[in-house]
Amino acid sequence: MLTDATHDPVLRSWVESANAPGCLTPIQNLPYARFRTAHSDEPWRIGVAIGDQILDLAAAAHHAPWGEGLDELLEPLAQGDLAAFMALGRPVWRTVRAALSAALAEGSVQGPFLELCLVPLAQAEFTLPCPIGDYTDFYVGIHHARSVGSLLRPDNPLLPNYKWVPIGYHGRASSVIVEGDGIRRPMGQIKSELEVPLFGPTRRLDHELELGLWIGAANALGHPVGIEAAEDVLFGITPLNDWSARDIQTWEYQPLGPFLAKSFATSVSPWIVTFEALAPFRRPLLRPAGDPAPLPYLDCAFNREHGALDIELEVWLQTARMREAGTAPVRLSHSSALDAYWTPAQLVAHHTSNGCNLRIGDLLGTGTISGPGPDQGGSLFELTRGGRDPITLPGGERRSFLEDGDSVVLQAWCDAPGAVRIGLGAVSGTVLAAA
Ligand code: MN
Repeated sequence: MLTDATHDPVLRSWVESANAPGCLTPIQNLPYARFRTAHSDEPWRIGVAIGDQILDLAAAAHHAPWGEGLDELLEPLAQGDLAAFMALGRPVWRTVRAALSAALAEGSVQGPFLELCLVPLAQAEFTLPCPIGDYTDFYVGIHHARSVGSLLRPDNPLLPNYKWVPIGYHGRASSVIVEGDGIRRPMGQIKSELEVPLFGPTRRLDHELELGLWIGAANALGHPVGIEAAEDVLFGITPLNDWSARDIQTWEYQPLGPFLAKSFATSVSPWIVTFEALAPFRRPLLRPAGDPAPLPYLDCAFNREHGALDIELEVWLQTARMREAGTAPVRLSHSSALDAYWTPAQLVAHHTSNGCNLRIGDLLGTGTISGPGPDQGGSLFELTRGGRDPITLPGGERRSFLEDGDSVVLQAWCDAPGAVRIGLGAVSGTVLAAA
């Protein structure tokens, strides 16, 4: 049994908006973010989303009675230091989740005190939830790998290593940003018809629909995290947009892989949904018949039975012209994290299998998660078949790749019978003209 009292679907909060049908931040979710009142010079602090409010943990830790031992556990959160809270480990993450759930539940002792510690979501601005030491991006979307491969290598779409080794590359942590920030169209070197490549703004700017995994525990250099222990390293999850410049990418990526085509920006939602909150949405890892079993270091009973995540994902687009005309964003694609070929635990076990040390606050991107259908591509590269088949938008505009003024929003949520739907937040970005 992975679930506990905090997942009980009948649980309701004294924050009335959290009980509204379809609310993505019900009391069963309790995601963390680092926030302050917008346009203020207040200190950043950690909050928990509940309905249309944020419980300010700096205020809440000191203004409500928490009971034996909890004050100490809440202190890193009160200090605005999510990484220090992560360092306390999974048993504490669980204890604090249970305490927050009880405090936010209808009729709680803390309710009257905590009412004074709420900040409306709509009045907040956000920053990264914690410093990111390293960022690694994987390639778990087998439909993405196959369809990109078929555009680049029609006779050999899926490379022979794919079903054996979780493919990844080391990305750039310094350019990971939260939603709302503008995405400056990058300059770069692009192959041209001439003998000399040109240097200029990318003409093939793309999004990638991914999930980001926040690492909440460190392993020492030289000490791999076994697959059985890998779950204890996983703190939370967020939607992630791995912005990509396809023309720069195709020219630079051989033989060492992605570089400047990816490192100009990676966006994440400011909200971290914890792995505790995901408990009702864990699923068996299913592989097509005939596929090889994972090597033993990537395989254990828990991962086979619960390793996969039932998360729905969507990409929405609104162009500048649509915005001006009052036209709503259009859904470009949808997919499911159940289509991921490798689980988060397998990514951790593989990443550390050579002795590489992960640190608290490291971020792992899953890679683009696409479904098998034509409207399930997690990038424009797939949806437009490498730019050959542009998409027609409401109002008649066409897109092969992103243009200046385009806004992309990635959304993710979990829904399952017997559980309350929870949101994983949204990550948005608007393309700015090259400088
Ligand atoms: Mn990617």
